[in-house]
Amino acid sequence: MKSRLPAPEAPYIAEPLAHADQPVHDERVPIYLHELGFDELRARLAADGLRPAHAATLWNALQYRAQTDLLAREDFPPPLRRWLEWRLGVECLLDMPEVSSHTPSSDGLTDKFLLRLQDGQEIETVVMGYEGRHTACVSTQAGCAMGCVFCATGQMGFARHLRPGEIVAQVLHARRVLQGAGRRLRNLVLMGMGEPLHNYDNVMKALQILSDTRGCNIGPSKMSISTVGVVPGILRLAEEDRPYNLAVSLHGSTEEERAALIPANQRWPLHELVQSCRTYGEKTGRKIFFAWTLIAGVNDSPAHARRVAALLQGLRAHVNLIPLNETAGYAGRECAESSASVFHGIIQDAGIPCTIRQKRGIDVAAGCGQLKAARRKRERAAPQAA
Ligand code: SAH
Ligand code: SF4
Repeated sequence: MKSRLPAPEAPYIAEPLAHADQPVHDERVPIYLHELGFDELRARLAADGLRPAHAATLWNALQYRAQTDLLAREDFPPPLRRWLEWRLGVECLLDMPEVSSHTPSSDGLTDKFLLRLQDGQEIETVVMGYEGRHTACVSTQAGCAMGCVFCATGQMGFARHLRPGEIVAQVLHARRVLQGAGRRLRNLVLMGMGEPLHNYDNVMKALQILSDTRGCNIGPSKMSISTVGVVPGILRLAEEDRPYNLAVSLHGSTEEERAALIPANQRWPLHELVQSCRTYGEKTGRKIFFAWTLIAGVNDSPAHARRVAALLQGLRAHVNLIPLNETAGYAGRECAESSASVFHGIIQDAGIPCTIRQKRGIDVAAGCGQLKAARRKRERAAPQAA
């Protein structure tokens, strides 16, 4: 079988950005405004002679109000308006993904969007509103290189990494959706398409911008990075003491079992993954969330539950059990409620907090990558359709 593991070359790194203490700007390189932190935006504007107050006004429009039609802001001070007329669309670009499709769930609690990026790649962004808490679930890559057999995104393969601005723009889209309903976005999960730790630098840059209290103001403790288990990324998070929640997708309790579901287990085996989690826990003192997708007849037995409990002993862990969403390449494996409940009981009895994630809004949300997969299927069936 063709391996879909990440290519050995260095991950895509964003174009160099103007830095606060290096305001020199190379005019040949277009800058994406959404991926400048506040100080970087101030430095960029200062290089063209604008004042810090202008940067504050522009930042507020971009990152707080989530506005995209900047030229329509007649209340902007004249120097800022002139700067936008001069620079926007030439040296300074905006990330404004188009909505390819919007599917609300029948319970009204989930809105799933397929967003089209400037190069035509499509990614999924979901806005969820359970129990008064609003959460955006965003993508970090177009496709994914990890090839997990049950995952619709993994079944598509890898297209490219997202730039920081493309990650930020998804959250701003969610913010606009909620603003329209008078609601505030408080939580962010990186559980859409892609593997966040395979795109480490761009993801960290985006999270730093999104946590700025002058902009989106999502607290770092309200942000969760979900990883398939990219060991060097987990160790780097620990080393850099990043203040975000970490969720690790486990799904298998032995090397063989996990490798059959997650090809990346060959590169970062389960024992190394658990060891990196221990190091992470010791260095940061943080709890780790472990995701376990329950797949009938594959990993949902009491013996599996006991092995998971043994594996996680001594870690500050919380286990999230996720019922499988069937995908085109992986069907007929939905776990029975009774098996989920027995599994849950065994983990809890071992002293590890455990939650069964409810399958709400399932008619729309389905799993990661499923909206795009469904669209591709329709397009193949009717290729002449728009
Ligand atoms: N790449 C990261 C984050 C994106 S996937 C990761 O793998 O953790 C987010 C979560 O959705 C993961 O826990 C993944 O295992 C789970 N997932 C993917 N496809 C699924 C499916 N068909 N049913 C249930 N969970 C699924
Ligand atoms: Fe990639 Fe996560 Fe899907 Fe695996 S589950 S293929 S890592 S997006």
